[in-house]
Amino acid sequence: PGGSTDSTVEPQVKHMKWWGWGVEGVSFRHDDKPKFAAFVQKVIDLDVTTPGNPMLTFEELPIPEPKVGDDVLARLRSTLGEQHVHTDPMSRIVHTYGKSLRDLVKIRAGILPRVPDVVVYPADEDQVQAVVDLLVESDAVIIPFGGGSNIAGSLEPPPAETRTVVSLDMGRLDRVVDVDEDSGLARIQAGVLGPDMEKQLNARGWTMGHFPDSFTHSTLGGWVATRSSGMQSDKYGDIADITRGLRVVQPGKKIVIRPLPSTSTGPSVREMILGSEGRLGVITEVTVNVHRLPEERLVLGYLFPSWSAGLAAMHAISVSDASPSITRVSDAGETAFSFATRKKSSGLSSVVSNGLMAVLKRRGWDLDQVCLSFIGYEGGKDHVARQRSMVKKIVSEHGGIVLGKGPGELYDQKKFDTPYIRDFLLDRGAAGDVSETAAPWSKLKGLYDNVVASAHRAFDQIGVKGWIMCHLSHSYHSGACLYFTFAFKQDPHEAIAQYDVVKSAIQQAFIESGGTLSHHHAVGTEHARWLADDLSPAGAELMGGLFDAADPGHHFNPGKIT
Ligand code: FAD
Repeated sequence: PGGSTDSTVEPQVKHMKWWGWGVEGVSFRHDDKPKFAAFVQKVIDLDVTTPGNPMLTFEELPIPEPKVGDDVLARLRSTLGEQHVHTDPMSRIVHTYGKSLRDLVKIRAGILPRVPDVVVYPADEDQVQAVVDLLVESDAVIIPFGGGSNIAGSLEPPPAETRTVVSLDMGRLDRVVDVDEDSGLARIQAGVLGPDMEKQLNARGWTMGHFPDSFTHSTLGGWVATRSSGMQSDKYGDIADITRGLRVVQPGKKIVIRPLPSTSTGPSVREMILGSEGRLGVITEVTVNVHRLPEERLVLGYLFPSWSAGLAAMHAISVSDASPSITRVSDAGETAFSFATRKKSSGLSSVVSNGLMAVLKRRGWDLDQVCLSFIGYEGGKDHVARQRSMVKKIVSEHGGIVLGKGPGELYDQKKFDTPYIRDFLLDRGAAGDVSETAAPWSKLKGLYDNVVASAHRAFDQIGVKGWIMCHLSHSYHSGACLYFTFAFKQDPHEAIAQYDVVKSAIQQAFIESGGTLSHHHAVGTEHARWLADDLSPAGAELMGGLFDAADPGHHFNPGKIT
């Protein structure tokens, strides 16, 4: 599509492609997956072998001129150094949107009602403070930027914003500052990307244990600001549990939350910052729980005869003495998708062989209902062995079987590649996206049924053959997260309107079935209309009051959450 993102002139900071997920030169391929094309043809009536759907080149994007006074620009340059203040088109475009499907459709079509006017890269907390102070004094808007990976519309400037909009990229604050080895606490700068952070921690023998699927392109500050959750949350907790201390720059002052194991100091200010999506100030540093690198780490594959059996097994594991790091089970649709995306030589192909399927059929399994599960274990060798055997017993009590290490290793290797598939589908004129929620165990199965039925009604409404599939991940004492992926072939002239119908139907079904608007993708602009349903109108009013009180001039990322 032209216009490499590398042309942004901030060499120390890595950015994703302006038009899609991840880095230039890496993409999803179908030609090494023999069953993929036929599967997609069957489920959404899309021929993936046809030539791509044209998108605009970078040069064709209608990028508005930056609106910024010479005085503001001059003060930013003298504060940060000329080379860390950018007004070039590529820098501004890369900082306009996150990576939701809506964002990708808009950027590819050149829908750019408001683009940040300036992008700045402070080097440290003092510079963040200086920039915040001068921008608030100049009545500008500040949008903190981490990796730009959010999928809730958390970054886009309000379309009608008339003030100067500055994207404050945290990418130069990328160091693990200190590890308190006694307490298992690490002080880390908020702009660090996942891999760079883990590399620094691992070098000292520690890990934070937070691995969202977007790990490679998201930052610690972004995780905190969106209440993120990683795939090993069953052991390490969500970012809300991992985060103990915080430093947040506000105009003329800083909020400093000390890293305490627990406290009874009134309503939690730490929790107010968590999920604040840049509306309460700029998070510059986070103190997090860290753990010694585990002696052993293992992900095993399992199969269940049905979705109900898989769900019941995950519930039984969550209330047992077993404490795996990952509990995940796919419904039959997602299992079929996994089988269709396997390579000829993959671990899954060798383990889930035709022979095994024939055996399961003889045992009375309906092969169209089979559900694939991954369960992870971490810790000392004895601990892992004990967990495995406890889980094995539970799996077998629910009619499941152990597949072993092959599929688990494949899952582990491939987990960060899957995000590239959305661009592949968009290139071919199809939308593929996700919506996720959490609900109590007692409501999960009903919620699942309602969501699937609502999605199919929405597909009928827009007249397409659509696909929806789901997995359970992130188990808790009282419930779990259900993560839905949906896809359909778009009408290029109605892409966003069609997406709205399907996405809204799914979100509405979450709320009506006792789930939350999102378990770990935050509110942003995408989910804001369900805020009062989720929290009650009085709860939403309280949250609006918090933002108004902290930022009466609406300088910090206005229009998000409330
Ligand atoms: P950005 O997208 O840059 O920003 C997100 C919000 O946080 C914005 O409102 C921004 O203003 C604010 N913000 C960022 N940094 C700061 C700061 N220092 N101070 C104040 N505010 C700040 N999420 C998960 O939790 N788990 C997953 O498994 C997961 N998988 C994903 C897979 C894909 C393919 C994609 C596209 C997204 C996925 N996400 C996932 C969503 C996304 O990665 C998270 O929301 C992530 O936490 C965003 O971090 P970021 O650094 O990219 O933040």
